[in-house]
Amino acid sequence: MTGPTNPFDWSGGHPALDLVNTLDERPSDAPIETLTAYGALVSFTELAGLIEPSAAKRLRSLGGPACTRVIRRARELREHLYTIVGAIHDGLSVPQNDLDAIAVEVRRAHAARALTATGASSAIISGWRLPTSPEIPVHACALAIEDLLLSTDHSRIHKCGAADCEVYFIDTSKAHRRQWCSMKNCGNREKQRRWRSAVE
Ligand SMILES: [Zn+2]
Repeated sequence: MTGPTNPFDWSGGHPALDLVNTLDERPSDAPIETLTAYGALVSFTELAGLIEPSAAKRLRSLGGPACTRVIRRARELREHLYTIVGAIHDGLSVPQNDLDAIAVEVRRAHAARALTATGASSAIISGWRLPTSPEIPVHACALAIEDLLLSTDHSRIHKCGAADCEVYFIDTSKAHRRQWCSMKNCGNREKQRRWRSAVE
């Protein structure tokens, strides 16, 4: 495999919510895991714009137990965020243990960054300290989560209005009235369902 595969849902409007949505069909008895393996995590972070394609290409060639641990950490990180986003959405208090677990990964991610001066202009760029570390995708996810939690308006985080869908998204519409993860899927299906129950 050379390029990224793309089984992911991109309706979140923020890479951290897209990460939450990588476990598809959550309300069902059999949710569908799209972060199936390390390569899928690399593809997700690349397609989400969290890592450069050149880095993704490098990382995709990695394997072994270190990568297995990283995919496990990424899924755990995702589920901590899912709990937090759910609590925010439902107006409940946000569990501290989930925040603590995320903070551990955010600290690791910041520790993995480095500043480098480049060229004659001495422009300073921020990059990964170890560009071949298998941990880069989970670090990238942690930094996206930090951004979501600290820099976005939480009142705009909504859950899809369809009864059988738990996709989370940031409502960036002007009127703040976005109801569906996507009009094409849930929006049309729900409208048809409501129309049918109205005429019956
Ligand atoms: Zn939906």
